[in-house]
Amino acid sequence: MSDTPLVLVINCGSSSLKFALFDPERPSAFLTGLAEKLGSPDASIRFDVDGERRREAIADGDHAAALAALIAELDGRGLLGRVAAVGHRVVHGGEAFTGSVEIADEVLAGIEACVRLAPLHNPANLIGIRAAAAALPQARQIAVFDTAFHQTMPKEAYLYALPRRYRTELGVRRYGFHGTSHRFVAARAAAMLGLDPKDHGLVVVHLGNGSSATAVRDGASVDTTMGLTPVEGLVMGTRCGDVDAGALLYIARSEGLDLDGIDTMINKQSGLLGLSGLSNDCRTLEAAAAEGHEGALDALGVCAHRVARAIGGLAMSLTRFDAIVFTGGIGENSARMRREVCRRLAPFGVVLDDEANGRTFGGAAGRISVGDHPVVLVVPTDEERMIAVDSAAIALPGVPLAFGLDEGAAR
Ligand code: AMP
Repeated sequence: MSDTPLVLVINCGSSSLKFALFDPERPSAFLTGLAEKLGSPDASIRFDVDGERRREAIADGDHAAALAALIAELDGRGLLGRVAAVGHRVVHGGEAFTGSVEIADEVLAGIEACVRLAPLHNPANLIGIRAAAAALPQARQIAVFDTAFHQTMPKEAYLYALPRRYRTELGVRRYGFHGTSHRFVAARAAAMLGLDPKDHGLVVVHLGNGSSATAVRDGASVDTTMGLTPVEGLVMGTRCGDVDAGALLYIARSEGLDLDGIDTMINKQSGLLGLSGLSNDCRTLEAAAAEGHEGALDALGVCAHRVARAIGGLAMSLTRFDAIVFTGGIGENSARMRREVCRRLAPFGVVLDDEANGRTFGGAAGRISVGDHPVVLVVPTDEERMIAVDSAAIALPGVPLAFGLDEGAAR
């Protein structure tokens, strides 16, 4: 049996824990899974190992219970002692973290300091970090931030036109999210197109339950659609994206809504769900739209219009425009949404290849345009793999990685 050091990736959401185990000798994660509905009687954990799936109930289990179940699984398979690095997805790194770092006391304090900016996410990430450090004392713990990639944005892209003191006193500025996904997808796209790493321009469009688009110039983020929080920007599953701040004031005054009411409305009741009155799920909406459901048609139409408008706006931060790259559950799978977005981009010279568009889904990567300037690509995202690559770079320097971006990534 091999004894290569392993990299465990942990992604704690507010009520979920996703994990993936990487072996430097294998091109992709060989043990993955998800604990869901944590904190509820329905909590459970699912393991996917080499094509086999198993689910266990962990009634009322929290993040620590999910991690304990994962540790027991690794132990039972004789893998626990081989875990040399644990890579943690951390949602908000504020201005303090511009890249991935090994977790020490001052890093923990920095993540704590960002809790005010991401009150739902960073506390869950901290639970995962503390539980992993206790259970795997031999492993080095690495933090990989959703915001770090966007720290290269220039001031003109990240400042809000609000009184200056809110930036200095409260940290109110645009940070952007999904950075790990945008970075992975941009690197893959540049490699697929053979672009010069020092001279290229991409717009990466991550469309899923949460959605954002990023302008990437020479490998660096120069503008993105999400802001201080993930509410800004594109139409999402249940988040509203860009909306006139005055409209929120008007609704609050008219309906007597307090701040929590507005919070719930813009985060949980808006987006595709709010517009359609039917569902936050793109597949459901596409099926309903095919039957002529007006709400579903509106939701998909507004979503596509806003994505196209965002791409146009983001392109202004580039010095050249090589490619538009779709990723995320909708971007990777919905030929309809990609067609609707690209149709609106005709002024940029975008011409979709309908046949290629129709056959690119379910994890396939490839070019879906006829035109060259810009090319349109689909590239499946893999945030866990990007986190594993960063963690290995810090904890296992010099170890060749079969799951690295250059070697095993040409899927
Ligand atoms: P994510 O958050 O990246 O997992 O993406 C979830 C979204 O992807 C949901 O809105 C799904 O409906 C959507 N999605 C997944 N598969 C398809 C598909 N084949 N066609 C359209 N949308 C899809």
